[in-house]
Parts: sequence; C-alpha cells; structure tokens
Amino acid sequence: MKRLYSQAQIATEDSAKLSTADVLVEGEQILAVEPSLSGVQDCEIIDCRGKVMLPAMFDIHVHAREPGQTDKEDIASCAEAAINGGVTGWVMMPNTAPAIDNAATVRAVLESAARTRLAGNIFTSGAITKGRQGQELAAIAGMKDAGCVMLTDDGFPVDNPQVLRRAMEYARDYDLPLASHCEVKELSGKGCMHEGSVSYALGLPGIPSISEEICIARDIRLAQYTGVHLNIQHVTTAEGMRTIARAKERGVRVSCEIAPHHLIFNHEHIGNYDTHYKMNPPLRTAQDNAELLQGLRDGLFDVIATDHAPHTPFEKNQDFASAPFGITGLETALPSLYHHFISKGELNWGHIVKYYSAAPRRLMKLPTVPIVKGGVAEFILFDPSRESLFDLQFMKSRSCNTPFLNQSLKGLVERVIFRGRELLAR
Ligand SMILES: [Zn+2]
Ligand SMILES: [Zn+2]
Repeated sequence: MKRLYSQAQIATEDSAKLSTADVLVEGEQILAVEPSLSGVQDCEIIDCRGKVMLPAMFDIHVHAREPGQTDKEDIASCAEAAINGGVTGWVMMPNTAPAIDNAATVRAVLESAARTRLAGNIFTSGAITKGRQGQELAAIAGMKDAGCVMLTDDGFPVDNPQVLRRAMEYARDYDLPLASHCEVKELSGKGCMHEGSVSYALGLPGIPSISEEICIARDIRLAQYTGVHLNIQHVTTAEGMRTIARAKERGVRVSCEIAPHHLIFNHEHIGNYDTHYKMNPPLRTAQDNAELLQGLRDGLFDVIATDHAPHTPFEKNQDFASAPFGITGLETALPSLYHHFISKGELNWGHIVKYYSAAPRRLMKLPTVPIVKGGVAEFILFDPSRESLFDLQFMKSRSCNTPFLNQSLKGLVERVIFRGRELLAR
C-alpha cells in the first residue's frame, strides 16, 4: 500500500529553510513530492504537520565492538541503536578483538551486518596494520576485495611514518580513504583528559592539544606526498581544524570529522570526575567549542560523525584515570544537535543534511538520499515539539555510557524509513 506523508517540513542540503510538501511512497520509491497530493486515493495517510522530514543520517565512525567485545555492543544492537537515532547506514571501526585486519574478518562482520534491519547499508573499515600494532601492514588488497571501504587503526595513530607512508601508497592504489586517529603517544602519555586548568585542578594527567595537532600536520604532509585521500577523525582543537583548512587550500586530499560531543561539551563538564565525559581525543576548552562550531558553519568540516564507542557500566564505573575512553553517540546525536544548536538558530537543518547525511555518503562513494521524486525512500521524521528522554528503556545500544543518560533533550526521532520500510514509528 502507498503511504502519503502529509505536509512535512522537508529539509534539503545547503538550504537553511524548510519547505512544506506531501511525499508519496510506494515500495522503496518516492513516487511524488508536491505541495499537495490530497487527491491521491488508496493510501495510508501520515499526518506530518510540524514535523521535519530529512534524508536519513549516515555515520562514518562507529564502534560496533564485534567481534570479541559483545558485552559492550554487537552489530545487531548497534543497528537498533542507529535506527533509534535516525541513522540508517554506518561504517564500523576495526579496533575489535581480534582486529578487523584481514579478509576473513571483513567478510564475517559484513555477514553479521547483513542479518540486521539495516542489511546492505552497514560497511566496515579495515585496520592499517596487523593487530593495529603499527608494525606490519595488514592485508589491504584482500580486505578491499572482501568489501572493506576505509583503512584506519582508530584508537591508535600509526606511529612509524615509514609504515604510514607505505600504507598510504597502498590505500591510494586501492582507492581507499585512510582515516587517522591523530595523536603523538609520547605527548599523550598516561593522559586521561585535556591538559589545562581543569586537569591541573582535578590532579589528573593531561593530553595536550599539541599531541593531536602535531600528528595532524605530519599526516597531512604524508598525504600530500603520497596523494592518498586522508580523513582526519574526530578533530577537537581549533588549531588542528585550521591546519586542515590550510591543507585543503593547497589542494591536499584531506577531509575531516567533527563529533557532536566536541561541539557541545568541554573539559569543565568533567567536574566531579564523571567518566561519561572521558573520551579520546578529549573534550577541550569552551573556546575550542565556539571555534569548531563556527568552523562547521564555515564549511571547514566535511562530516559529522559520532565516534559511537560503547562501554559497559562495569568499565565506566571506575575512577576517572582507569575508565576506558569513549561514549555512545548514535542515539543522541540528532536530538543533541537540535537541542543545543538548531533550536537556538546556531545551526540549521541544511547543515545536518549536508554533514550528517549527504557528505558522509559521498565520502564513502555511495549515492545520497534526497527527498525527491524518483528517489529511494530513506528518510526520517523528527518532531521538534516532543522530547527524547535517554533512559535505559529508550536506548537500544547495549551500553549506556553517555553524558545524556537519564536526561531529556528537545526533539524526537519519530519515524525512520529505510528503503521504503518503516523501521521505527512512535
Ligand atoms: Zn579515535
Ligand atoms: Zn573511534
């Protein structure tokens, strides 16, 4: 049966404005998008007045924890968390146990992904080096044949510049983006938060901004030298952002990610040693928050990506220095961006469509999913007048390590349509 989504406020890439329209869907396809389709017969009508309809999100930085760490998450629970957040496609990171560093493991995780409700739209990256040890290159050609779409040792940088150079040459030749978690380990040391006034006050070892910024500069120089497409993951400092912007101006093939938590929070939020604010790279300063947000508006970032990183309560309930790095993000990203920025006029829906739906798909060489006649029906409905309460009942991820735990945010992902099928309606 056809479905008519009536009078939705439709968001499009690069437009700050929403336009009201009726959207008719049959099977996988959008049959029509018109100001009014009220004459259409034999269809289910869904009243979308006041609701924002936007192309579904795509997240290129997700830790699904499979294989080997399924007490934190697995691909099936991660898919449900993604749907809950309006994300219909994502790229998993290879820092699993064992690492995704060979063709057989790439195939295994893709088979697991094919059993979820997002079958066909979950992708995997592969490790740059065997076991992510930074020593020997992983079997890059075999992983590419098996379906790997990106290379990264995320969680770690590749310390040895010669190893990284060779990896970049392979990645270039096999046409795979290489994603860098930028950090100089000697500078980070045993740091567990941003090095600055708050780390001094709390008596915690710090990770200085230069740890990230120096590695960004090095990796950009290597990318320029080798010609690879370099993607800088989770940029947290304004200086790092500007280094990347200057490289783009010189024509270096470099893209970069911003995570919602690095826009919303800073080191002062850690306050009472709350491990839900511990991640790597760490929360920086309020000044960084402001400059990164302006950078996003100015087009200095290519994509929003959450770095969804589930950990069990048992692991996070340790003292701040001992707890693992990382927070979940798939379920909270959209409401948190709406609550903190869109509802205040600091970002608009066009930014969200561009940076969290269209650009990430293009970066992965996938088709985008604009809401147009003849397009694939892959969109979400977001109700700004409702609230999301992130309690244990709401969240589908196996883990709940988020600063938003048991908090409410403005806005709710109300429906999720994936290739014509309604995966969520509430
Ligand atoms: Zn990382
Ligand atoms: Zn990560």
